[in-house]
Amino acid sequence: MEDRLYQLLDDSYEEMVEIRRYLHQHPELSFEEVETPKYIASFHRELGHEVREQVGSRGVVATLKGGKEGPTVALRADFDALPIQDEKDVPYRSKVEGKMHACGHDGHTATLLVLAKAINRLKDEWPGTVVFIHQHAEEFAPGGAIEMVEDGCLAGVDVVFGTHLWATEPTGVLQVKSGPMMAASDRFEITVHGKGGHGAMPHLTNDAVLTASQLVVNLQSIVSRKVDPQMPAVLSIGSFVAENAFNVIADSAYLMGTVRTFDEEARNQIEEEMNTIVNNTCEMAGATAEFNYLRGYPAVVNHKEETEFIQKEATSVPGVTRIEEREAVMGGEDFAYYLQNVKGTFFFTGAQAPSVQEPYPHHHPKFDIDETAMLIAAKTLGKAALCYEN
Ligand code: MN
Repeated sequence: MEDRLYQLLDDSYEEMVEIRRYLHQHPELSFEEVETPKYIASFHRELGHEVREQVGSRGVVATLKGGKEGPTVALRADFDALPIQDEKDVPYRSKVEGKMHACGHDGHTATLLVLAKAINRLKDEWPGTVVFIHQHAEEFAPGGAIEMVEDGCLAGVDVVFGTHLWATEPTGVLQVKSGPMMAASDRFEITVHGKGGHGAMPHLTNDAVLTASQLVVNLQSIVSRKVDPQMPAVLSIGSFVAENAFNVIADSAYLMGTVRTFDEEARNQIEEEMNTIVNNTCEMAGATAEFNYLRGYPAVVNHKEETEFIQKEATSVPGVTRIEEREAVMGGEDFAYYLQNVKGTFFFTGAQAPSVQEPYPHHHPKFDIDETAMLIAAKTLGKAALCYEN
């Protein structure tokens, strides 16, 4: 049956490109999506799929029941754009000032819609159920995934697969990784309150700059001395603000930074240790502090068996020339939430055309994808849905 699926997808390639370019011209930002989910819902409705709208808040879930027994496989595509001015010189460039699809989510959506249509043609013989998860707001924490999961988008789902088109890897290459693949990315803010005063009379003040400086140093001991060295972690302070005249001792100082981890235990530990260090350092200095630890997405942790399954199934997918093990990256993705609830894996589909020597990176104003990669993504996801056995 996979050959017929591939044929149906090949025959619909033009439609896939058309959909992608339509979405590309009409980008909508995270948590502002209105027309995109409507477009997606009506596409599925025309195919006769069961459709749920406003899942979470703006997500769409469509369900296709095959004629034969089999597992329930969820496939996810995100559909939000970014607040970036499109600077490409192409006929399908964004029609909306200051907004563009600069991460390929338009391609993810076109891929999943056309795949849904192809599977629909085979539905009488299709083994099991396919759940199409169209997710809003991937780019902006807390993200759409968590609220879609809370709203039941994974009900009855046995396994979930998702892919990201990746414009800086050659078309034909798939990248997989078992275990932690993308980091949890958290943000923190610390405001130190001391007692300001004259630069010449430090004995009458409590210098917030000095205390914040001690914090910068002390916080670095967490990753180097507290966290298990087997667990990768990063704690970076990116901002230190205490603006005063040259002869003024600061009343307050403000620190901001990020924490990246792959392991939930290390993540919890770092937050706790930070809390202790902030309190103790300030107490010793006679200062006080406000400490805010803001959690972003958790780490994307791929399940081993499902990752090996994709690796195996993809070898025979037309257009796939190489399957590589990807290194873990410190960037984040809210696909993580699906994987905390059901088995599955997230992989990268290369989308750099052979003619493009130096592709623009994701989130760049001139970002673009090789559209033929959508076909490879669709075939791989389709093959996975077809061949998965519980
Ligand atoms: Mn993305």
